[in-house]
Amino acid sequence: MLAKKCIVCGKSSSLKRVIEMGFHPAADTYIKKGQLLNPQKTYPLNCLLCSNCGHFQNEYFISGEERYIESNYSYTSSNSPSARAHWDEFADTVSKYIKLAPSDHAIEFGSNDGYLTLQFQKKGARATGIDPSPIMTAVANKSGVNAIQGFIGKDTIAKALKKNGQARLICGNNVLNHIENLGDAMKAIKLGLKDGGYLVVEVPSLKDTIEKYLFDMIFHEHISTFSIKSIDFLFRKNGLFITQIEDIPYHGGSMRVYASTKKLAYNSQIVKKHIADEQKSNLFKTDTYKKFMTKIVKDKNELLATLYSLKKSGKKIAAVGAGARSNTLLNFYRLDNTVIEFLTDASRHKIGKFTPGSNIEIKDDNSLYSGDIDVALITAWNIGKYLTEKIRKVNDKIQFIVPGEKELM
Ligand SMILES: [Zn+2]
Repeated sequence: MLAKKCIVCGKSSSLKRVIEMGFHPAADTYIKKGQLLNPQKTYPLNCLLCSNCGHFQNEYFISGEERYIESNYSYTSSNSPSARAHWDEFADTVSKYIKLAPSDHAIEFGSNDGYLTLQFQKKGARATGIDPSPIMTAVANKSGVNAIQGFIGKDTIAKALKKNGQARLICGNNVLNHIENLGDAMKAIKLGLKDGGYLVVEVPSLKDTIEKYLFDMIFHEHISTFSIKSIDFLFRKNGLFITQIEDIPYHGGSMRVYASTKKLAYNSQIVKKHIADEQKSNLFKTDTYKKFMTKIVKDKNELLATLYSLKKSGKKIAAVGAGARSNTLLNFYRLDNTVIEFLTDASRHKIGKFTPGSNIEIKDDNSLYSGDIDVALITAWNIGKYLTEKIRKVNDKIQFIVPGEKELM
């Protein structure tokens, strides 16, 4: 479905297309061997900038049902030690900031495998998870979390409140940016919070995405990329007021935003400062996005020239990291199984499947150590340094190629 208006402020005449990345399949849908010859659903990946509220959103939406319920959704939020450490820190920092008491109710929407919800439970709070994926809800329930299957909305919030009452905390990490109908979600959140309660969200930051050229943070599941200007607009429109903003290195550049139901708690100083920084970075000017497109196309051409010349000289190339981001990279670069032998990932939900669009088989991490691979393309380039060091310890013959870097490593 094509977006007809800005999903934050509702205006349509204020939208301008600023990013064009070609046709892509949904980035988090992996395919089975038997499906390789079937046509794959692909959608245009373009983004729009709103000159009214500063919001940045996709132009084409794939329905939520198609993304999380029909497809075999496979992202697990606690799939690595660094991810678990991040959620442990989130639970500690947020509990302290909002003074979460054991009698309080904490709701997490987009609770995925339930790892973070469980951390609030361990702190003595009554905790509820809400997640649209039946698979992930089942995983969460199995680990002892009270998880409700469904999208964040009036119905799921009513179910959560029925058991545990209104919440002191509602949190959602890397979720708000996945929601098409933000108005309904915000109304449900407001209903779920008690007076003086907090909404805490983590979302990828538009400033980081553009300044660090994180083009692979753009995919269909990421409907929005927020600036403080646009999230402040959205929250105030729905009776929530920002009290604190933290920059988070997670996913290459995210923001943790705290908002209270109390208007008096609004921290206008911190909001003004962030919006001034965003303006200084020319985040609301279309020229900025022209420069962004020029740079990512140039990087792509350079990397492809290197890869093809390695391939011509008989080298075997594998790729490392099967995230949604890797799929944006592979499909934007038009790379496939004729160039990349296989791709490695630690997630058991992905091993044995194939990447959408590029049809590259996903194997476990050990395949990189035992095989005859000469070069590893690091698709998770934001953690490129960590990955290259880790692989080099086991196999010192492999060379690395990292997008955005000129030389082989
Ligand atoms: Zn807008």
